Amino acid sequence: MKKIILTAALSVATLGAVQAQKINLGKAVNAVSKGAQALTFSNEDAKKLSKESVDWMDAHNPVADKKSAYTKRLHRLFDKHKNEDGMELNYKVYEVVDINAFACADGSVRVFSSLMDLMTDNELLAIIGHEIGHVKNEDTKDAIKAAYTRAAVQEAGAAASGVVRKLSETELGEMANAMLDAKHSKKQESQADEYSYNFMKKHGYDVVAVYTAFKKLALLSSGEKQSNFQKMMSSHPDSDKRAEAAKKRAIKDGLWKEPGEVTLPTTPIK
Ligand SMILES: [Zn+2]
Repeated sequence: MKKIILTAALSVATLGAVQAQKINLGKAVNAVSKGAQALTFSNEDAKKLSKESVDWMDAHNPVADKKSAYTKRLHRLFDKHKNEDGMELNYKVYEVVDINAFACADGSVRVFSSLMDLMTDNELLAIIGHEIGHVKNEDTKDAIKAAYTRAAVQEAGAAASGVVRKLSETELGEMANAMLDAKHSKKQESQADEYSYNFMKKHGYDVVAVYTAFKKLALLSSGEKQSNFQKMMSSHPDSDKRAEAAKKRAIKDGLWKEPGEVTLPTTPIK
């Protein structure tokens, strides 16, 4: 399995950036002298740019095909949630060694096969529930706005224009990378955890899976799979504490069942 591709070929990116900077400098200075406005960024902009980022990642990463066991499993678990809570969601699996999952403002959910290998069905639902919580709470809108601004500024020298412009292929790669790298605040994370718990409860799934999923994430952050996992952990720290928060709520709701010691599976879960 490959590693996920995050950015366009570096040499091309660097060259492109230098060129674009020279060309756009005049424009940028003009705009600044007229008084640069804050970037107007609507929900529609967030959706459009997120879709462009995801299209870029889909094109540059090994997407599992319809016959793949991973695709079939995700379909079985998640197809019934395509219209969850007013969101229009679509989903795909990347067959990569990195352990991750993400969701974007346009409703795209991407789950990495190496994460699926480690998580039970309910644990996967808990993790996806967390990710779509970020969409529902518009955290992903903040993330794509920051990612767009970073990519556009790097290439053009300034984001002086008040409106979203079309990005080059190189910029799209950078935006996709920045979007995946986005860090949410602690508050946003605990709200997404809460969303996940409520999602599980609402649909009658075992809420203990929220606890065990976080326990597994905590094991990963200290274990041998650390390198593939660093990216996900850097945006999701304190897994142990978050597991305990889910446990506390489950006890309060009378839904807690002691799961025993949580370990990482030695063979892939199908
Ligand atoms: Zn999160």
